[in-house]
Amino acid sequence: MTMIVGLTGGIGSGKTTIANLFHDQFGINIVDADIVAREVVEPKSAGLKAITEHFGQEILTLDGQLNRSALRERIFNHPSEKEWLNNLLHPLIRQRIKQLLTKVTSDYALLVVPLLVENNWQTMINRLLVVDVKPETQITRTCQRDGVPEAQVHSILASQASREQRLSAADDVINNDAPLTEQAKQELLSQVTVLHKKYLVLSGSFL
Ligand code: ADP
Repeated sequence: MTMIVGLTGGIGSGKTTIANLFHDQFGINIVDADIVAREVVEPKSAGLKAITEHFGQEILTLDGQLNRSALRERIFNHPSEKEWLNNLLHPLIRQRIKQLLTKVTSDYALLVVPLLVENNWQTMINRLLVVDVKPETQITRTCQRDGVPEAQVHSILASQASREQRLSAADDVINNDAPLTEQAKQELLSQVTVLHKKYLVLSGSFL
C-alpha cells in the first residue's frame, strides 16, 4: 500500500505549481483529479454515454465531445440535475483514481483534488496538504492565468470551501502568497523539501 497525500487549495492557489515541484525535484507520482474528471467523459466512455442519454444529444459538440458550457448551464440553479451528475461522475472518477494509484512507483503519491474538502474525499487519502493563499492572491493570479473577469473568480471563490474550512482540515500547510522571486522560489522549495522528508518517514509505515 502506498501512502497518499491529498493536495488541495482554492482556485489559483498554486496546486499545480506545488505538485510540479514534488514531481520535478523528487520524482513523486502525481494523480490529478481534474485530468481524471475529463477522462471519464471522453467520447465513447460510459460516462459520456450516460450523460447523453440523460440530457440528450444537444449536450455534445459537433465533433462528439462533451459541451462543458452547455452542461454547466443545464445544472446551474438545478440542484437535482447537479446531484444526478455528481452521483454519476464521482464514483467513476474515484474508481479511475484508485486504479491509477495502484501504479504508483514513488515512495508516496500526491493526489491533487481541487474540491477535496467540499466533496468529503478525505477517505481517499492518508494525509492532507493545503496550499494556502489570501483570497486576493487567488483572484489576481486566476484572472491573470485564465484571462477572466474578477467577478467570475469571485463567484467561483464563493462556491468553494472557505480558507478557514480548508485550513481546519489540513495536516500540513504550504503558504504560497509570496510572488515567485528567486528568493521566494528557494523558500517554497525548502518548504516542499521539509514536507517531502516528513512524507518519506511517514511512508515507511505504509510499506
Ligand atoms: P491551481 O492549480 O491551484 O489553480 P496554479 O498552480 O495554476 O494554481 O497557479 C495559479 C497561477 O498563479 C498560475 O498562472 C501560476 O503560474 C501562478 N503562480 C503560482 N504560484 C505563484 C507564486 N508564488 N507567485 C506568482 N505566481 C504564482
